[in-house]
Amino acid sequence: MKAVRTVIIGIVLFVSFIPLSAVSATVPAPARPGFQVPILLYHRFGPAVTDSMTVTDKVFESQLSYLRANGYRVIPLRRVVDCYLGKAPAPPPNSVVIVVDDGHRSVYIHMQRLVRKYNVPVTLFIYPSAISNSSYAMSWQQLRELKKGGLFDIQSHTYWHPNFGKEKKKLRPEEYERFVDVQFRKSKGKLEKELGGPVDMLAWPFGLPPDRYLVEKAERYGYKVGFTIVRHSFSPADTPMLLPRFLVVNADQGKRFARILEGNHEGSGYVQATSGGKRYRKPMERSSKI
Ligand SMILES: [Zn+2]
Repeated sequence: MKAVRTVIIGIVLFVSFIPLSAVSATVPAPARPGFQVPILLYHRFGPAVTDSMTVTDKVFESQLSYLRANGYRVIPLRRVVDCYLGKAPAPPPNSVVIVVDDGHRSVYIHMQRLVRKYNVPVTLFIYPSAISNSSYAMSWQQLRELKKGGLFDIQSHTYWHPNFGKEKKKLRPEEYERFVDVQFRKSKGKLEKELGGPVDMLAWPFGLPPDRYLVEKAERYGYKVGFTIVRHSFSPADTPMLLPRFLVVNADQGKRFARILEGNHEGSGYVQATSGGKRYRKPMERSSKI
């Protein structure tokens, strides 16, 4: 009996020391092919720069033209997320994703024309409280039109774009919990009702990385991935609710734009700041709710 037990323990020990590569040769692991995809994040468009988040139509067109001339392929965000979740093969080399946060009406008025001209897919992250409500935002009808055209997908940016950290300080714990539930549930519910789904991707307001509580809440409401403004290319090594995006501003032209596509961490979207006498780089402050 003792001998049998020794043999069993021996087998268990042996199996547990087989290198992973040997196991994966016989037992297929969930497919998670390699990729490195920069996600370019925009906010507003227009004939001229009126604030730090506006990219002019001319600069946006020069960027699209650069992508085309240099062999980059703009793919839907959904395509690379499906690969990340093990549901699709790796995207082609030199893939790039374009997303826009906030639902500013300049997406409909200015960006749409260039998106159609260059035939590139775009994902919009929308906070529904502004839609058909605020003068700067698009209407539900405009969003329906964009989605129907086939190039625009529409996902969640919470219900009214709160700063969760500030709300947490202001509210009692049970109030905060109700508040958080509303931000995730109402946003997804309203977008799916007005535009159809699925809505399972989330962009964190202000790009701020969430705490564990928010991540668990978001997952409970059916969000599979969440996006910040951490500056590097999206790869399988990233954490599902902390996915990176490059905030693009009007100065990202020529070499600066090329550096982003190469996955460079530096560049715009960051400003010099000082803390305790030390200089460091921090994400650019957002001037307003949008
Ligand atoms: Zn936003």
